[in-house]
Amino acid sequence: MIHRLSTLFVRTLRDDPAEAEIPSHRLLLRAGYIRRAAPGGYTWLPLGLRVLQRVEQIVREEMNAIGAQEVHFPALLPREPYDASGRWTDYGPNLFRLQDRRGVDYLLGPTHEEMFTLLVKDLYSSYKDLPVWLYQIQTKYRDEARPRAGLLRGREFVMKDSYSFDLDDEGLQRSYDAHRSAYVKIFARLGLDVVIVKAMSGAMGGSASEEFLAPSVSGEDTFVRCSQCDYRANTEAVRIGTPSAPDASDTPAALVVDTPNTPTIQTLVDLLNSRQDVRRTIPWAAHDTLKNVLVMLRHADGSRTPLAIGVPGDRDVDMKRLEALVSPLEVEPFGEGDFAARPTLIKGYIGPNALGEGQPLGIRYLLDPRVVANTAWVTGANAPGRHVVNLVCGRDFSADGVADVADVRDNDACPMCSAPMRIERGIEMGHVFQLGRKYAEVLGLQVLDEKGKQRVVTMGSYGVGVSRAVAAIAEMHHDEIGLRWPRSVAPMDVHVVIAGKAGDQTAPAGEQLAAELSASGLHVLLDDRTGVSPGVRFKDAELMGMPMIVIVGRGVANGVLEVRDRIAGTTTEVPIAEAAQHIITCCA
Ligand code: ATP
Ligand code: MG
Repeated sequence: MIHRLSTLFVRTLRDDPAEAEIPSHRLLLRAGYIRRAAPGGYTWLPLGLRVLQRVEQIVREEMNAIGAQEVHFPALLPREPYDASGRWTDYGPNLFRLQDRRGVDYLLGPTHEEMFTLLVKDLYSSYKDLPVWLYQIQTKYRDEARPRAGLLRGREFVMKDSYSFDLDDEGLQRSYDAHRSAYVKIFARLGLDVVIVKAMSGAMGGSASEEFLAPSVSGEDTFVRCSQCDYRANTEAVRIGTPSAPDASDTPAALVVDTPNTPTIQTLVDLLNSRQDVRRTIPWAAHDTLKNVLVMLRHADGSRTPLAIGVPGDRDVDMKRLEALVSPLEVEPFGEGDFAARPTLIKGYIGPNALGEGQPLGIRYLLDPRVVANTAWVTGANAPGRHVVNLVCGRDFSADGVADVADVRDNDACPMCSAPMRIERGIEMGHVFQLGRKYAEVLGLQVLDEKGKQRVVTMGSYGVGVSRAVAAIAEMHHDEIGLRWPRSVAPMDVHVVIAGKAGDQTAPAGEQLAAELSASGLHVLLDDRTGVSPGVRFKDAELMGMPMIVIVGRGVANGVLEVRDRIAGTTTEVPIAEAAQHIITCCA
């Protein structure tokens, strides 16, 4: 098919739009693929829509290939199922809630676990009906706190979500594996290199969970990659190794010391190492100090409870890791008012003995996994200007549990093999998740098993960011001059630029080439515009990023065309008579 630039609904922009933060966003706007319609909401122009539809089609083909069946739900959903699962409140401010004319509550679906569960419950009742895998490609709504980078994080976006229903855990594992392998194929076809990482299961109550991340500095996720073994995990899901308990029989009794003028951990450590009474053979270091960090957790009903986390002084609490751990509760800073309400907490000198559910303040206290039994610490003495030295975990203090939420750093030891890990950033493209029985239980999805007994079904849920993929592909496939689409998703196969003067042979030659290419089934973007300089046409062709550009220009007089392969980065002159065949072969 021939698509003529003279009539195509598109305008390219010469300058970078101020709203665009990252290359894909800038290029998709400049090349006329999308326009912003609302905060976090984008209009697809013809070229962009073709890419979106091709991405959808690849996802659809691979889902169908594993035997999943496509359905389609409304985006406007009733409240009741989300009340039953708890997500009407748990989703917090991210959920778009609205009312109809009678004042009945609705929501715009952020993801559809509840609806799929009820659909299967509605129609199926026997183990013989299982397994079943259903999916949809649909617009989702989330009131994201920070819509960002155009299509990468929208408030309205396209997702493929699928759900598996099985009788038992082995079935769930097979369903999960099938989706996982479909995803590997999908991302390969989309031209996205992805790393599969362990993910947090969060509040959904499931077990195994992995994410497909496209490594990119523009990504919002960070993950670790072990330099030796195959351990890969989202930093949210990294579980550090727990050291074994040392021998504490020689550790002296805890001693409270005056520590004036020690505003930083380093000044504190220096002071201790200069004092005879607490000096050690191995000098005190920042990682021997125990820092107690206070936060407030906000519940869905608006109430707040304090939480204290003890981490070695050379680390910080990573708020994203903490948020992932406590979700759906939200993390808020522990403010001046919170201190004022608890005058026994001395800011800067908070020690373990003021913390814990058993202490008068009743503050839940969790410790970093490195704080194992028998380790000796320097920490706050709960008195202004005073620290305590040789406070031994298990001997002198205890906590309510463990929180593995300290920051993860480049070169940290791999929990599997202890080799150094590398930290990278990535864009979350997909997520596979063994949900288990949580939704089936609360919504009453049971089937009769072989023995005629009612059994709760076990589920998986699996998502692909379809509109996000358009941005991610653009982010991975561009250069200084423009987009550079992989053939699998390019809006057109070839861009033919007529670049001569009115009345010369270039227009008929370009038209004829386009007709031959089109006849062979290719989609041809033909720049047949008049009144636009050749320079502008070349620039537009480079910007728009079709995998092949053919320049029908001065060479026509000598019987040749210029063929640029944007993916290979090559330019070749091809005789007019052979041009069509040459291009068809390249596009095959
Ligand atoms: P994120 O951590 O990026 O917010 P998520 O973990 O909340 O994503 P899921 O609920 O797992 O996302 O949704 C499945 C997929 O949908 C994600 O892997 C991602 O590709 C895509 N997605 C999620 N939120 C957005 C969004 N706001 N805009 C575009 N795509 C999104
Ligand atoms: Mg996710």
